[in-house]
Amino acid sequence: MKRMLALLAGLVLILAMAAGCSSAPEAASDSAEPSQAADAASETPAAEDSAAESPASEESAASDAQGEVLKRIIGNGKLIVLTNAQFPPYEYMGSDGTPVGVDMDIAQAIADQIGVELEITDMEFDSLIPALVSGKGDIVAAGMTVDEERKQAVDFSDTYADAKQMIIVPVEGATVASEEDLAGKTIGVQLGTTGDLYVSDNVEGADVKQYKSALEAALDLKNGRLDAVVIDLLPAENIAASNEDLVLIDMASTDEQYAIAIEKNNEDLVEIINGVIAQLTEDGTIADSTAVHVEASRVSA
Ligand code: GLN
Repeated sequence: MKRMLALLAGLVLILAMAAGCSSAPEAASDSAEPSQAADAASETPAAEDSAAESPASEESAASDAQGEVLKRIIGNGKLIVLTNAQFPPYEYMGSDGTPVGVDMDIAQAIADQIGVELEITDMEFDSLIPALVSGKGDIVAAGMTVDEERKQAVDFSDTYADAKQMIIVPVEGATVASEEDLAGKTIGVQLGTTGDLYVSDNVEGADVKQYKSALEAALDLKNGRLDAVVIDLLPAENIAASNEDLVLIDMASTDEQYAIAIEKNNEDLVEIINGVIAQLTEDGTIADSTAVHVEASRVSA
C-alpha cells in the first residue's frame, strides 16, 4: 500500500518534470477545450496529496502494476474523456458548445483527483469503444451500459447509475401499447446502443432503423416514419418532457447499469476511478448532478 503510493507519487513527479521541460505530446482530439498541459503539470504535486487520501488507494494493494493510460494522462497533463453529447442528462451540449452533464461532472472529478485538466472529445456512440482501444482518449463516460460483449474489448469501473430501456410512442394513433406490441414494427434506435441490441436481438420481425441520436429517431417518430423509439430511461424522459405529443412505455424486462470504460490492463486507473465514483455516490454528488442536469437539459432542449 505505502509502496504503491510512493511509486505513484514518484511517477507523478517524474512525469510532471518531463512534461514541464519538453512539450507534452498532443493527443488527437477535436475538443473545444484547449490543452493546458503545462499548467496542469505544475499542479501535479497536488496529485500526490489527493492520491494519498484517495479511497481508491485503500484497495490498491493488489496492483502495483502501472498502466500505460495513467502514465499518459499524467504525462500529457490532461485526461481525455470520450463521449457522445446526445444523451441528456448524462451528456448534452452546453450553451458554450462544450459537452456538459452528469458524466462530464464525474470525468471532471476524476481529472481533479489525478491533478490534470479535463479535455472532452465528442463523437458518435458506436465509435467510442474503437476510439478508446486505439488510444484516442483515456476513458469513455457516455451513459455506457456494462455488457458482456463490451467487456471483451474494455474494462469497466464500478457502476454509478441504474437504467432501463423505454419505448417512446405518439400520444395519437400509437400502434404500440406494450413491449409485446413491438413485434413486426418499425422501431428507431440509436446505433450501437443497448436499445439497438435489445430490439435487434429480441423483437420478432422488427424493422430496426438506426439513428445517430435518439432525438433524430424521435423526429421520425413524430413524422410518422416509425412506430416507436427504444432508448434509455432518462434520455427518453428528456424527449417526452419537451414533446407533448410523445409518451413513454416502460420496458420492465430490461435492467442496465452505467460505468466508465477504460482500456484493459489499467488497474491503477480503474482503482482511482472507482474511488471517485464511491465518493461521489456516497456524498450525494451524482444524485445532485443528475437532478441539476435533468432540469438544465430540459430547458436547453
Ligand atoms: N446505455 C446505452 C448503451 O450503453 C446508451 C448509451 C448512449 O447512447 N450514450 O448502449
